[in-house]
Amino acid sequence: MTDKLYHFIGGKRVDGTSGRFGDVYNPATGEVQSLVPLASAAEVDRAVQSAHAAFLQWSAMSAPRRSQVLFRFRDLLVQNVDKLAEIVGREHGKTIADAKGSIQRGIDVTEFACGIPHLMKGEFSSNVGGGIDTFSQRESLGVVGGITPFNFPVMIPLWMGVMAVACGNAYINKPSERDPSAPLFLAELWKQAGLPDGVWNVVNGDKEAVDALLGHPDVPAISFVGSTTVGEYIYHEGTRNNKRVQVFGGAKNHMVIMPDADMDQVVDALIGAGVGAAGQRCMAISVAVPVGEATADELARRLTPRVQELRYGPWNDAKADFGPVVTRQSKERIEKYIAEGVKAGAKLLVDGRGAKLQGYENGYFCGGSLFDHATADMSIYRDEIFGPVLTTVRAANFDEAVNLVNGHEYGNGVAVFTRDGDAAREFSNRVDIGMIGVNVPIPVPLAFHNFGGSKRSKFGDTQMHGPESIRFFTKVKTISARWPSGIRSGAVFSMPTAGH
Ligand code: NAD
Repeated sequence: MTDKLYHFIGGKRVDGTSGRFGDVYNPATGEVQSLVPLASAAEVDRAVQSAHAAFLQWSAMSAPRRSQVLFRFRDLLVQNVDKLAEIVGREHGKTIADAKGSIQRGIDVTEFACGIPHLMKGEFSSNVGGGIDTFSQRESLGVVGGITPFNFPVMIPLWMGVMAVACGNAYINKPSERDPSAPLFLAELWKQAGLPDGVWNVVNGDKEAVDALLGHPDVPAISFVGSTTVGEYIYHEGTRNNKRVQVFGGAKNHMVIMPDADMDQVVDALIGAGVGAAGQRCMAISVAVPVGEATADELARRLTPRVQELRYGPWNDAKADFGPVVTRQSKERIEKYIAEGVKAGAKLLVDGRGAKLQGYENGYFCGGSLFDHATADMSIYRDEIFGPVLTTVRAANFDEAVNLVNGHEYGNGVAVFTRDGDAAREFSNRVDIGMIGVNVPIPVPLAFHNFGGSKRSKFGDTQMHGPESIRFFTKVKTISARWPSGIRSGAVFSMPTAGH
């Protein structure tokens, strides 16, 4: 019998009542391992109502007391890293080492959030005029929604949810239906940490649940991470309903390799950033842009054997470089792109199609693939493939490389490898990209900085974690007060100024 999963609402496991379920696969074996309930609009409404009641209690609690719950939750995350990594591995497919790294990134944000009494401080100006002091305070918003993707089932629910909750909001996570078990386990850990019931909820589902959140009058803000097509819809639909919305979408991240770059470093960096997590990271490097023919030839010569040597395996194979991709459709889509690249005239140096693993014949494995001589009009360059496929587009010079980066619709991350500080500085200033690495292949900022892309990789004004998350999950009130209140200045009919 296949296990039935549940929602987590009001501090307890709740069975789905819509009658609709989705299959949750083990991507290494292709077997269905559980069924996830897909919530109806009525179930979402019940979750919002319960979260709203919890919000009133939680937001009234002082920030230092909320912080104590966060400290306990952080300790529970640390104690449960192995268990979380296993849950992620079984449903997502990523290796244990990779899963642990991503969980650590979620713990980092939790540690940052423990400083919430400091982070939520407002501003104060004394005696702005006539004995008046003016100060601002940050206040929570209410019940906020977090719609999260399959590729980081612990990290991303934590990135948005921990900050939301730290700021005094209640949070409803609508995780990916591909790997819902890790988000459900996080909810159990919150309960153990002493978070009041109903502050952290998990409502499983698909478009119907998302639409219910987008249309709900008691959900003032939505944070979304996922593909650009879905994200753009969520941004338009949410803002049309007067919600505050932030969307972190798809990516096609370039690495520009200048002729003076340290090629040993470049090859290691490209391999890790390109195929780690089977290329299923929004900050994966999927395009190599060597500058000059000599650089490009050397890169192809060095990279080819490294891609050929890559080892894929199930999540618990400690020797595997990466695991399977998440679904059969993903594998088919990746292989379709490779075929298109070949047809369009790119040179396929390593072909990862048709990968098979003994004992895991039905798993969704893709070998590493490497293209050279791709051009900007090809689908392997234009589209986010989200698989272990590295595409090389040769650039004649620095300007051509910068123009290529800026000409792409996505602007999440980019890296430049060079020993020339002038070139690196000019590159950083000229590219329209949210996160830039100088000799750093995956420039994901740490928790105390902001995370987010540019162009069609992000919609909305604020970024994820760091100080911007406090702005997103709070609203500002500005209060002007005069004490003692007995001062008489008579009725003033002109616009008050600092003199009053
Ligand atoms: P996805 O867009 O398919 O799904 C994301 C979420 O949206 C899921 O919860 C899903 O259930 C929901 N959803 C899917 N279709 C929907 C629809 N039609 N209407 C409403 N909701 C819908 O993304 P995914 O495949 O889970 O994740 C991979 C994508 O996420 C990639 O494009 C990747 O680049 C992106 N991503 C971006 C970042 C970032 O920070 N920019 C981080 C991680 C992943």
